[in-house]
Amino acid sequence: MITCTILRGHNQIGGSCVELQSEKTNILIDLGLSLDSNIFDIPLPADITTVQGEELVKNSEFIDIAGIYVWDDRTNKIDAVVISHSHPDHWGIVQWLKPEIQIWFSEISLKMINKSAELLGRPKIQEDRVKLFIPGSKFTVGGFEIRPHLVDHSAFEASAFEITDKNRTIFYTGDFRQHGRKVKLWDKILKKVKQPLDVLIIEGTTLSRLDETPITEKNLEEQAVKEISNCDGLAMIWTSSQNIDRLVTAYRSAKRTGRTFVIDPYTAHMLKIAGQSNVIPYPSKKFQDVRVYFSSRFCSYLVKQSSVKALYEFQKWKIAKEEIIENPSKYLIIVRPSVKDFLNHLPLKNSLLFYSMWEGYRDDEKSERFLNWLKEQSTKEIFLHTSGHADASTIRDTIKTLKPHNLIPIHTTLPEWFEKEYSKTKILQNGNSITIK
Ligand SMILES: [Zn+2]
Ligand SMILES: [Zn+2]
Repeated sequence: MITCTILRGHNQIGGSCVELQSEKTNILIDLGLSLDSNIFDIPLPADITTVQGEELVKNSEFIDIAGIYVWDDRTNKIDAVVISHSHPDHWGIVQWLKPEIQIWFSEISLKMINKSAELLGRPKIQEDRVKLFIPGSKFTVGGFEIRPHLVDHSAFEASAFEITDKNRTIFYTGDFRQHGRKVKLWDKILKKVKQPLDVLIIEGTTLSRLDETPITEKNLEEQAVKEISNCDGLAMIWTSSQNIDRLVTAYRSAKRTGRTFVIDPYTAHMLKIAGQSNVIPYPSKKFQDVRVYFSSRFCSYLVKQSSVKALYEFQKWKIAKEEIIENPSKYLIIVRPSVKDFLNHLPLKNSLLFYSMWEGYRDDEKSERFLNWLKEQSTKEIFLHTSGHADASTIRDTIKTLKPHNLIPIHTTLPEWFEKEYSKTKILQNGNSITIK
């Protein structure tokens, strides 16, 4: 018997948390922050007082689950938390769990989260209390056997979970797509999932948008190559340093147009971690066409939060601004508002900027100012982005292939869409459960 409860995420994107309960074991799948959480901008200290903690639960920043947080005296019933990927809307609360609760991550996800926390001066996850799983290899938590499947998503080494108590099987998709750099992966996973499937817990992030065919990372690469080929100035890209698929797209576009890929030290660290178990370009002997620039403003920020050592790990691959000034049309450089001081020195005549993130991020004041400034320099702006999440047709195919006895939507603002698509859909409002005997 498994009882499955949606604790958060039935009608929102981000902040997902599912509780699975068997006779012997209680686990949580993902325990993230809501995407509108204030904690993204004002990080919390590692030590939270009882008053602060209670306030965070009261404000719904943290999910109210009895006894799981360090300050909460109530009895804890949760044995473990299993995290699907490195986006904070899936793990952002785990630093404050009681030490008796196991926390499971994939190795690369944990390393990326902690390196980012170190560089940006945010609380790290204590590594000695984390248990690591390997995508593709089963692991056991009490009465549950969990098989993580590596999925295609904008976070690196993201997993879907196939969870069984030996009698019943649940499949949690986590965040996934079929149009990144691993397009064939999803179909392979669907063939592996044990049938009959009792419960499918599936994300529906993109359903509120138009039912359109998604652009693949490969399409983006072709578009970027075309635009860069027609550009005789500096090419720039503004994207997330943790979106490894997109960084690979950028690197390949640079390579195909005979340009050097120029990145900042933060991005270099993220790529190096991703490159530990995969062929990913990062500044090294093997990839001499990846160089690192040091913007003084961004670097002093990193040094203040972290250490000079972390900053200068990639010193050997440094590119000086003079080299870029000499021939800007030889480079594709990663930019963001905090490196404007560096860009100020560069000739931006005939330059182009790929805006390569979700459109919504443009609206904050800093982003707007930066984009306007580039416009004043006559930089041509090109939108170059695709979602990290599955489109409606991939979701439809997934349901058709898995034919679950129960379908529970999560990570969506349109749970009703699933009801119309599939008669065995059960919309579980936050806090509601189903039990499969
Ligand atoms: Zn998410
Ligand atoms: Zn995600």
